[in-house]
Amino acid sequence: MTTPHLSPKAQAVIKQITQFRELDAPTHGGRVLSYVYDSGLAELDELAAQAARAVQSVNGLDPTTFPSVAMMERDVLGFVRDALNGDNNVVGNVTSGGTESCLLAVKTARDLWRATHQDTPAHQPNNTDPATPSGASARTTPPTVTMPRLVAPATVHAAFHKAAAYFDLVLDLVDVDPTTGAVNPADVIDRLADDVALVVLSAPNYPYAQLDPIADVATATEAANIPLHVDACIGGLALPWWPGLTTPWDFRVPGVTSISADLHKYGYAPKGISVILHRGPHRHRHQYFAVTAWPGYPVVNPTLLGSKSPGPLAAAWAIITYLGTQGFTDLTAATHRATTTLTTALNRIEGLTIQGTPTGPLFALVEDTTVPPNRRVNPHLLVDAARTHGWILQAQPGAHQRTQPDLPQSAHLTITPVTEHHTHDLITALTTAADTVRGTPSPLTDPDLHTRVTALIDTLTEPTTNTTLTTALTALGINPTTGDLPNDLSHILAYAQLLPAPIAEQLLTEILALLVTPTHRKEPDEPPHTH
Ligand SMILES: *Cc1c(COP(=O)(O)O)cnc(C)c1O
Repeated sequence: MTTPHLSPKAQAVIKQITQFRELDAPTHGGRVLSYVYDSGLAELDELAAQAARAVQSVNGLDPTTFPSVAMMERDVLGFVRDALNGDNNVVGNVTSGGTESCLLAVKTARDLWRATHQDTPAHQPNNTDPATPSGASARTTPPTVTMPRLVAPATVHAAFHKAAAYFDLVLDLVDVDPTTGAVNPADVIDRLADDVALVVLSAPNYPYAQLDPIADVATATEAANIPLHVDACIGGLALPWWPGLTTPWDFRVPGVTSISADLHKYGYAPKGISVILHRGPHRHRHQYFAVTAWPGYPVVNPTLLGSKSPGPLAAAWAIITYLGTQGFTDLTAATHRATTTLTTALNRIEGLTIQGTPTGPLFALVEDTTVPPNRRVNPHLLVDAARTHGWILQAQPGAHQRTQPDLPQSAHLTITPVTEHHTHDLITALTTAADTVRGTPSPLTDPDLHTRVTALIDTLTEPTTNTTLTTALTALGINPTTGDLPNDLSHILAYAQLLPAPIAEQLLTEILALLVTPTHRKEPDEPPHTH
């Protein structure tokens, strides 16, 4: 395909975007240890870009009008199904990302649960057939008396908090061991009952990369006829080729009823593509929304979106076709080598330790509480110090648990193939960063902070107004007009951790909403050319 030459005017527009991009964290080279997944193969990025461009004008909404969309979707699903050891009975869809796959896993399970657990008035014949896709019929269902439960370890991805909130399920979190981040299968099994619409386990979980005890729990969920979703959003395209991993966690485990796996993570595709697979078409059909009762075209949507870009699908298809199983095996081996080198070296840094036993290309650093306090390294201070050396780790707040002690603060690292060439630099940077903050107590212990948190709570528990929000943001060092953040993010996170969740959530929402306050645009000097 040839790239048409752009006029100087159009080039100037693109140049502005290039300038905006200078503000961003680097997406290549392994400096950012979350969000981005760099294969280290420049050609793969160009291939993905050209593939997406080749379908740019297509609408992924309707594969009957645009059969290329269905062709590529079938292929991508087939590849992921094989990787996850699914048989011909496993079917699903591509979605716009991990969150959408997780939302759909929950929505499907909820509708299946409603179909089998809810008394339905006889005059709604649609609802008596459990195989009826829950489209318009779901809306005519009388208000649910019981809200079904979603059971998951406390380390489950936030997308499931969102799913429970969107689809009216009670999120029943199971505490994990605070020293390892691992969940005890018996604690999950204890929660099983008739009102459980879905159990979710992760392969592995995002915060600490623990591979949940999938086979143990699956035996119990299968016996109780409760669906079990495996969230392999991050591991789904890495664990199948992870050297030395023998524990079955995918469709090899009979009780696993659905799996989510992100192609825009270890599938190296541009953002906007993930997969949800179900065991059995019956289950899958409950994922759909279909409605004919309106004057427009019949709407039959497998996913949350209507019109959608086929770009990420085409890019993922191109990458899978180009790499093949061998390509994924090689890239995963590189990631594995980098991860092993890093975990071994970082575990040796005094005052830090790896949380639990991670499986896969990610892990978290926590304070080593076996050394005296003046030798410990607070992970959030480490994140701030590493940033000054040009390495961007992800600070994870601790979390409160119901019965077990709280989960500690940690620093998350997601490792991608490109990191293999930079492990030495990264280890040096983190060793130096740890030296500069070792012995400095956690921002959480600052008595000043506690005074200010109390003041903030007082300010914000009254009905909030613009003034109280402005006061609160200013107190946090945040620009109350632009939402611009201060450099020491560890302090903001400490506030977020100490404030009651609803207040912290409100403040963070405010910051993010301020970032997108519409700007007053200046029109270009020249009016656009019209014919
Ligand atoms: C990334 C991730 C998600 C959510 O995926 P998005 O693509 O960010 O929407 C869900 N679960 C796990 C374990 C993840 O790592």
